[in-house]
Amino acid sequence: MAFLQKLYSWYDDFGRTLPWRGIDDPYRIWLSEIILQQTRIEQGRDYYLRFVEAFPTVTDLAAASEEQVLRLWQGLGYYSRARNLHAAAQYMATECGGVFPSSYEGILKLKGVGRYTAAAIASFAFRLPHPVIDGNVYRFVSRLYGIATPIATDAAYKEFESLLQKQIDRQRPDRFNAALMDFGSLQCKPQPDCMTCPFADECVALRSGRVDVLPVKSPKAKPKDRWFYYFDLRWREDGAEKTLMEQRDGKDIWRGLYQFPLMETDKELTDKQLQEASARYAQEKFQFSIFNFQFSPPFLHQLTHRTIHARFVRAELASAPAVFPEKDRCFTVEGIKKIPVSRLIDRYLQTL
Ligand code: SF4
Repeated sequence: MAFLQKLYSWYDDFGRTLPWRGIDDPYRIWLSEIILQQTRIEQGRDYYLRFVEAFPTVTDLAAASEEQVLRLWQGLGYYSRARNLHAAAQYMATECGGVFPSSYEGILKLKGVGRYTAAAIASFAFRLPHPVIDGNVYRFVSRLYGIATPIATDAAYKEFESLLQKQIDRQRPDRFNAALMDFGSLQCKPQPDCMTCPFADECVALRSGRVDVLPVKSPKAKPKDRWFYYFDLRWREDGAEKTLMEQRDGKDIWRGLYQFPLMETDKELTDKQLQEASARYAQEKFQFSIFNFQFSPPFLHQLTHRTIHARFVRAELASAPAVFPEKDRCFTVEGIKKIPVSRLIDRYLQTL
């Protein structure tokens, strides 16, 4: 049986039903693809439905504030995706008359859209013959043809793209890509059941005993350690409990999200060092002498390139600090629930 027949026969039996499958609305397909970058389908599905409900069209998304978008994104991580999503929606609303670009090159111009995402949108929404190449597709194709080129390199992308260009179903590239992605994800898994695979008789990796070693991955850089000490200062004012928060800026992680005033150090502090450093920090930043700090247990937060070691320094104040930096803002405890914060801050808030 030919490649396509085998693939489609498997897809008819085992393909996934997803809210963004079988539609040709480029806006919704784009939303789903951006959400699913670095996110599992099970987790991404809820976020997709929430975004579609809150912002039914690209113009609605463009009209929202970045804070609203980040708030809806909260918990998904990789917040640059949300910022790019918002910027791209504004670009489409202002530069493209609210119309989604319909060529591969036009889609590729959108902020946050790389070759993989552009191929997915072009094929699913416009039936353009561009193969999608994600981690699942790399796994399946590298095993099937015994390709040992390290994936996630430009050379590998070009090699796999050229190979799949010869296989792609030019009438239904959308169906071809969906089947390929599902096959890599559900059948040719990291630990696959090769006995039930329709490609078992031609799979090079299976015949040569290399299923466990393909695809070849490039070595990963070790994540960098960072130590964050957040100051959760509380006081009562007008009958409500209040605290200070600042919005992260610069080029660092979590830009645009809110956090408690942060002291970052280049190594872990002992409790005694933390006590002294906290008193100094409060004095310098708020011109406030505080000695009754309480320290949370350590929170470990793993990001792709960073390992964050965080502790929260809590202090009850008699009144608001008389002096605090311009960018700090007072929030009630209820108000914090309405602003975007990182998953790390959210985890801490949940413990209170
Ligand atoms: S035989 Fe096994 S390794 Fe080869 S394509 Fe099928 S599931 Fe993947």
